[in-house]
Amino acid sequence: MYRDLFGKTRVKLGLHQHTTRTDGRFSPEEVATLYRKAGYDAIALTDHWVYSEDDCLCGLPILAGAEYHVGVCDAGAGVWHILCLFADRAPDLDRARDFGHVTAQHLIDEIHAANGLAVLAHPAWSLNTTESVKALKGLDGVEIFNTVSRNTARDDASLLVDLYATNGLYFPLLASDDFHHNDHTVATGIDPTAFVMVECDSVAPSALKKAFTEGRYYASTGPEIHLRREGDTFFLDCSPASKVCFHSNSVASRGRTIFGEGITHATYERKPEEKYVRASVTDSEGRMAWSRIIKI
Ligand SMILES: [Zn+2]
Ligand SMILES: [Zn+2]
Repeated sequence: MYRDLFGKTRVKLGLHQHTTRTDGRFSPEEVATLYRKAGYDAIALTDHWVYSEDDCLCGLPILAGAEYHVGVCDAGAGVWHILCLFADRAPDLDRARDFGHVTAQHLIDEIHAANGLAVLAHPAWSLNTTESVKALKGLDGVEIFNTVSRNTARDDASLLVDLYATNGLYFPLLASDDFHHNDHTVATGIDPTAFVMVECDSVAPSALKKAFTEGRYYASTGPEIHLRREGDTFFLDCSPASKVCFHSNSVASRGRTIFGEGITHATYERKPEEKYVRASVTDSEGRMAWSRIIKI
């Protein structure tokens, strides 16, 4: 567990990991050991169409999870990868899958029926357009960063997140590794990288789910970030950063990006046309953190 800049207890979670249960290179025990040594407080095992229960492996709490998908490789035909997190049981999807009846909405609905949260994985890798995402009902979050999507140079989904938000879709934002330990991530040494920091003093799934649902977390590959609004002013606090960006539906550039050394505070004045504001920070090592979206 960690103490944040405001003295609150946070837990570091990896919510998208694959193992030898499907196409990951490491066994569940090896993945658990790797993430425990990297300072994570819990991880979800989210193998493809294989639901893993809550567990504890090699000293690391394991959160229930799975990743379900429709579509194969042609984004034009629709490719959807959706994480099931914090569920009480496995979603009832096998029958529909056998009959080829699965749609992205079906995945979301069955995840909800199992009391899980449905998170859209790697929308940049899948090229999920605003129109197609808008047609879905009930997504509980979106990965703004997915480490393994670096394989296709689409790890950062910031542009898509702003297109979604500009069209009224204010999703909670996660950063995940989508850990497989494939040749690329081994070669570049980027496992483990991404996480969410949840304001919670427990790793009990019910407590984490509540904090997550209430939006008490930020996404990161290193730095700490906090964004709050008072009237038309946004206040950002962060661990020492080299770059701070405020993102919104406005294309005006004034006050948008701040460069410097060891930046720990920044403010931003709302522009009249802005419907939402979010922030990101980059530290001197190039690691990033992403705030929640604040709807105005
Ligand atoms: Zn996926
Ligand atoms: Zn995955």
